[in-house]
Formats: sequence, structure tokens, C-alpha cells
Amino acid sequence: MTDPAPVIYWVRRDLRLADNPALGAAVASGRPVIPVFIHDECVEALGAAPKWRLGLGVSAFAASLEKLGARLILRRGKAVSVLRALVVETGAAAVHWGRLYDPQAVARDTEIKAALKADGIGAHSHAGHLLFEPWTVQTGTGGFYRVFTPFWNGVRNRDPGQPAKGPAKLRPPAVWPASELIADWGMAAAMRRGAAIVGQHVRVGEAKAQARLAWFLDGPVQIYRTARDLPGADGTSRLSENLTYGEIGIRTVWHQGLRALHDGMAGAETFLKELVWRVFSYHLIHHTPQIAVSNWKPEWDAFPWTGKSALSSDWTRGRTGIQFVDAALREMYVTGTMHNRGRMIVASYLTKHLMTHWSVGQRWFAECLTDWDPAANAMGWQWAAGSGPDAAPYFRIFNPDTQAEKFDPGASYRRRFIAELSDAPGKDALDYFRAIPRHWRMVPTASYPEPIVALDVGRNRALAAYAARLGGGNERLEPPTGSSL
Ligand code: FAD
Repeated sequence: MTDPAPVIYWVRRDLRLADNPALGAAVASGRPVIPVFIHDECVEALGAAPKWRLGLGVSAFAASLEKLGARLILRRGKAVSVLRALVVETGAAAVHWGRLYDPQAVARDTEIKAALKADGIGAHSHAGHLLFEPWTVQTGTGGFYRVFTPFWNGVRNRDPGQPAKGPAKLRPPAVWPASELIADWGMAAAMRRGAAIVGQHVRVGEAKAQARLAWFLDGPVQIYRTARDLPGADGTSRLSENLTYGEIGIRTVWHQGLRALHDGMAGAETFLKELVWRVFSYHLIHHTPQIAVSNWKPEWDAFPWTGKSALSSDWTRGRTGIQFVDAALREMYVTGTMHNRGRMIVASYLTKHLMTHWSVGQRWFAECLTDWDPAANAMGWQWAAGSGPDAAPYFRIFNPDTQAEKFDPGASYRRRFIAELSDAPGKDALDYFRAIPRHWRMVPTASYPEPIVALDVGRNRALAAYAARLGGGNERLEPPTGSSL
């Protein structure tokens, strides 16, 4: 009997076996399945840390597939050309993939779908990255949501569907196509000295993500409502790096969170709400893709933000002289992630006290975060700057020192990451100096810098600019609704 034509499963941000609709559909076709990962134009465009972290995830997923008797074929090039060539080479009947929603991925995938269809090849995209497809959540009048709380109320009781188990086996093709070697792609190249440091903090792959979720829901979630605000505590799930590469299905996280809630874990509701913030960010980027690149509220185009400058360079280097800000930026450089409160503080400080355009910070995060996510990052920055939907009003300016007193009362977080504050700094504080480029010329024995801008000076300058440019305009001045950012 001749082998039926295989199908290609195009692996993207869905590096998991369980709860993976695209992989499930490929297996359910009954045909041999050829999983392929492409180092394409979207991968090429990634910042240093996300690209490196993606490479780790791809290697781990390849190992999982091998345990099922399959392989992960690696190819490099423009996705449409690689897929077309692979279809011809293997005689594949169809290509399956998990849908993504950021503008760059949408443009790529639209072109590919059309090209494959024109070639007479099945082109099937599947849900799986979110709890609900962005276009399925609508306001009463059929529009999209701009504010989180009504969005949350609209979806909190929706059933996103049960997560499916992973396949026990993948039917192999008669002949495996050749694969490139991931080592030849140099995905860690831009990390330089940082890879060895950040590598101590990543949690790569499906099994580790599942274990972290179980750990979190077994205890810490109980006090999540308060602990999630304390950067010095291990009080959050830290699943963002796994969710962004799809190493765990969000439906899996949702259903297990729901079970914890029913089992009496009070903080689980807040946790579920945070998962929906992620979905909300995709709702926004789907309906208003410009959120990734320009002010969501166009009236902010007139605001006198500056671009990159000596001040923003001090900010990226974690030497602003404002301890909470510097601790958070150094945390990101050492661990690849930053506590949510830190993200809010550094973003507010950059856009308000330093009057720097949010895109400068957005790009730095895209360079440094191992959990970089195109939608959550864009929404977070525009929220902090005041230019986004459901944003913090501009006149609400976080005071980083007051925030530190409230959320880092014993200074454990600040001391953990700022060597200059201790006579005997700890490993994370010193690792910062091992990770940063030498040309930054920073040493742990120097004295801690004076503030580059006094907090009251920065605040007053921002408020004056705000009053001059926007105060009399149509900017919404009410507090953010139900904002958890
Ligand atoms: P938990 O508190 O355990 O929350 C569970 C999950 O809910 C997270 O893993 C995440 O997927 C989701 N979530 C939580 N808070 C948010 C939020 N405010 N917006 C969207 N989703 C949320 N998150 C990213 O995943 N990638 C980013 O690039 C990113 N950039 C940000 C930039 C700024 C300026 C701000 C203010 C926030 C940003 N966030 C980003 C959101 C948030 O800070 C992180 O999702 C969170 O800190 C991740 O830690 P955790 O996994 O322990 O979260």
C-alpha cells in the first residue's frame, strides 16, 4: 500500500504537545506528520533575549517530538518560500499551524495562506494561542472593547473549551526531509555574555511549565492578590515566558486556575483575570494593530516626547539614581523578566519623569525580555504612557520612591539587584556586572549614582507639558477602569 501524502505541521509559538489544536488536527488527519520550524522573517526580527529563548524552546520541543518517534525539521528562509519548497519536496497535501495575531505575523500568514491555496494545498490555521479568538468577543453593539472591565465581564463565564491531551505518537513519513542544525543559526549571538547569566533563570519547556503551574496553584495562588504586588516575593506564576512561546496551553492554565478557585483558593480569581488581560491585549492588537507602533490615541502625536538620549541611555543601563527603577531594569538584564510592578514603574518613569517616547522603552523590553510578547508589551507601554486604551491618566505619575516604600518595604528587592547598595552584594547584583557590555563601564564598587533627574523636577515638567499640550484637549481624565496593570 502506498503511503498517503503527509501533512506539514508548522511549529511557531506553540512549543507543546498537549492542548495544541494545530498539532491535534495534523495528527487527526491520519496522514504522516512532518513538524517544521522555520527561522523566518519574524524570527529574524526578534530582539536578543526573545530570539535566544525561542531557540531553547525549539530545542526542547524537538526533544519532546523525538520521544514520539517524530522529528522537528529546521529550515531557514522566508516562510512562504520555505513552505512552498517543502510541500514540493515532500508531496505534502496540507499545512497546519496555530494562529498568531500581531501585525507582522498576520501579514506573513495571509500571504502564505493565499500562496498555498493557489498551489492547491490545504492551508489550515487553528486557534490555541488565546482563550478566545479576538473577533468573537463583542460589545452589545457589535464593536470591540476598549476598556478591560467590561471585556472581563463579557468573558469570565465563557467556556474556552477543554484542553486536549497530547498525541501518543506521530505517524512518521516514509522519508524524513533533511534538517538544518539549530546550532548553525546562532540564535544566542546577540546575547553575548548575557546568555550564561540569564540562562540560570529561564524555565524551558512543557514539563517545567506544567510543574510551575502545579506549584503555583498548590499554594502561592492563595495569597496572589496581595503577593503579586511585591517584587521581592516569589508571588506570581512566572508563566509568561512559557505562555509566550506556547510551552503551556492557556486553556490548560485557565481550567486548572478555575479548579483551584472552586477548591477555595481565593486568589485564583485575580489570577484568571490576569490571564484575561493577556487575551485583552490580543483583542486590542487584532482590532487596532497600530497599537504596536503608534499612539493609540492620536492626540498624543503632538506630545513633546524625546527619542533616545543620554537620559534614556542611563535608564536602559539601570543607573538613573532612582533605586526602584534601577533595580527593575537590572532585574530584567539578569533574569530576562521583570516584575509587573517594576514594569509599571520603569515605564512611567521613562515616559513621564524623563519625557521619553514609550517606543524607546518598548524596544528595550523587546531586546531584553525572555517573555517578550508583542501584544502585552505594546499594551503595557501605551497604558503606562497614557496614550493607550484604558490607560493610566497622564497626571497620575507614580513616585518610584513612594512605590518602593509600599511594595518593597524592607528593600530586599532593591538590594538583590543593586550591588552599590551593599557592602557584600549578592549573586544577582553582581551577575548584572557580569552580563552587561564592558563598554558601559560600570563596576559594582562605584558609588551609587545621584538621580539623573530629581523626582519632583521630572514630575512637574511632565505635568506642565501635559497641561500645555493635552490638558485642554479631549484626553480622558477619569481613573483607569479596573486596571490591574
Ligand atoms: P502572573 O501575575 O502570574 O499572571 C499570569 C499571566 O497573566 C502572565 O503570565 C501573563 O500571561 C498574564 N498577564 C499578567 N498581567 C498581565 C498584563 N498586565 N498584561 C497582559 N498579560 C498579563 N507581559 C508579557 O507576557 N510580555 C511582555 O512583553 C510584557 N510587557 C509589559 C510591558 C509593560 C510596560 C507592562 C506594564 C506590562 C507588561 N507585561 C508583559 C505584563 C506583565 O507585566 C507580565 O505578563 C507579568 O509580569 C508576567 O509575570 P507572571 O507570569 O508571573 O504573571
